[in-house]
Amino acid sequence: MEFCPKCSSMLTPQKDGDKKILACQNCGYTKKLPKGSKNTYRIVDKISHVPEKEEVVVIDEKLSKQRTMPTARQICPKCGNKEAYYWQVQTRSGDEAMTTFYRCVKCSQTWREY
Ligand SMILES: [Zn+2]
Ligand SMILES: [Zn+2]
Repeated sequence: MEFCPKCSSMLTPQKDGDKKILACQNCGYTKKLPKGSKNTYRIVDKISHVPEKEEVVVIDEKLSKQRTMPTARQICPKCGNKEAYYWQVQTRSGDEAMTTFYRCVKCSQTWREY
């Protein structure tokens, strides 16, 4: 990082035709980039990708709609059957734990684990 010799503001990389220069946004001071420093400033352009946190949620919702779900030994609160499909869902807020849902293979009663 370089700073303006006139006003000490931060210099930002700019394009001047096909050349790259450093320019002060505050007082308009410009400085030509020395040869060989191109790569240093190219990195700045690339830091724009933010990983998508919501992606995890979408995958879980797709899984819960699949017909071939795993089953677990869970007693149905409605009919007393001892086998239920189960799947896990990450809540929207992201910082809460996974919630496990069960669906009775016999009567399709659905409940969540507390
Ligand atoms: Zn300046
Ligand atoms: Zn049941």
